Amino acid sequence: MKNTLFAENALLPTGWAQNVLLHWNATGHLTQVEPNTTAPEGTEEAKGPVIPGLPNLHSHAFQRAFAGLTEYRGQNPDGAQDSFWSWRTLMYRFANRITPDQLEAIATWLYLEMLQAGYTSVCEFHYVHHAEDGTPYADDATLAQCLLRAAKKTGIGLTLLPVLYQTSGFGGTAPVEGQRRFIRSTDNMLRLLERLKPQCDAQGARLGLAPHSLRAVPPETWREVLAGLNAIDATSPVHIHIAEQTGEVDACLAWCGQRPVEWLLDHAPVDARWCLVHATHMTLQEYQRAAASGAVAGICPSTEANLGDGIFDMPLWLQHGGAWGIGSDSHATVNAAEELLLLEYGQRLQRRSRNVLASATQTQVATAMTLQAVVGGAQASDRAVGGLAVGQQADLVELDAEHLALAGLSAPDMLSAHVFASHRTSAIRRVWAGGLERNTTLAPEFIAQAATEFVAARTQLLENA
Ligand SMILES: [Zn+2]
Repeated sequence: MKNTLFAENALLPTGWAQNVLLHWNATGHLTQVEPNTTAPEGTEEAKGPVIPGLPNLHSHAFQRAFAGLTEYRGQNPDGAQDSFWSWRTLMYRFANRITPDQLEAIATWLYLEMLQAGYTSVCEFHYVHHAEDGTPYADDATLAQCLLRAAKKTGIGLTLLPVLYQTSGFGGTAPVEGQRRFIRSTDNMLRLLERLKPQCDAQGARLGLAPHSLRAVPPETWREVLAGLNAIDATSPVHIHIAEQTGEVDACLAWCGQRPVEWLLDHAPVDARWCLVHATHMTLQEYQRAAASGAVAGICPSTEANLGDGIFDMPLWLQHGGAWGIGSDSHATVNAAEELLLLEYGQRLQRRSRNVLASATQTQVATAMTLQAVVGGAQASDRAVGGLAVGQQADLVELDAEHLALAGLSAPDMLSAHVFASHRTSAIRRVWAGGLERNTTLAPEFIAQAATEFVAARTQLLENA
């Protein structure tokens, strides 16, 4: 039977279920999720537990090309420690040299890596817009098109979030030279969104907007850009970097006397359309108010660890009913299970306790985290990718029950082992995105070519850096 999979164990929104028949239609949406049944004659049976694919809610694709290349101590003035800001200087060197072909090559390979690693969709926070000298390309959507094509070629689901970037600091300081490729006026951004909307719709991609941060979007812009966005699509997602670094919090306080999250909640209509990326540094009151707004917290554990951001207080967020999801952000790590591991371990190290993110209804940490990250990730993506339920997309990950780390275990323990028992090879067997099998059915020649083009793009960028 076409578009049908029978799973002895599947992770449904309510928890683990047995003998589940999954069926989806030609558009890739689940039309049947039936537990405690038998497999009709000729139905394909999964070779391990089936779990929902994870939406990756925060990505800057081009940054994959220098993952692992900023792990050395730089020449800092006054013996200062390497920090987020010295990393950003290196990031700008890549951002200022990348060509459209290089971006497409890097994104294509990255999206293949994501599909291999349990992500079935991605939110692309896309801020390099213009040519190397800062002038717009003849086709102003050139670099956005590269990302749309990369998603189409690989089959990963996409939420495209063109980034609004206008200033270099709080209160409207002029952009610096390193930001020349990012800058757009409000009108110019709205024209780009109008241009991209029909194309995204046709491809099944969701279009939203990402005001980069309070550093990059001055107060007078907010009302105008959100009104313009709503005129195009009043339900489209809005993502923002917020309170990632203590330096950013201090600068915001110096500017307006308020902390970034506090200012945003007071001045912007933050609600369930919004994804607050990082939100690492919040007061008790900010946790309470931000969670109550309905916004999703976009946690990027490997990047936040890599950049020394700090640790989000997840139990406090959950206590106030907050939704959350996972992003791989700078792509120091591209592995859905590893992000969950790092998130839980950060909480354990800080609290000196274990199994912090188990819930009242799901005592298995990996199960509880997977279910929550899928729901929050789907909300932030604003796509029907919220798990194994009728109406949602068939975004499925089949774990390999024969993998050494999983063999002979119960299904919940297999997911735990997948997340927590470190092993050298992936325990993922197959991945479907939008009802199509992706990681094993793409032509080997296509994958080989994508790998070659990724390495070539990285080499070129390093030669010119
Ligand atoms: Zn980011």
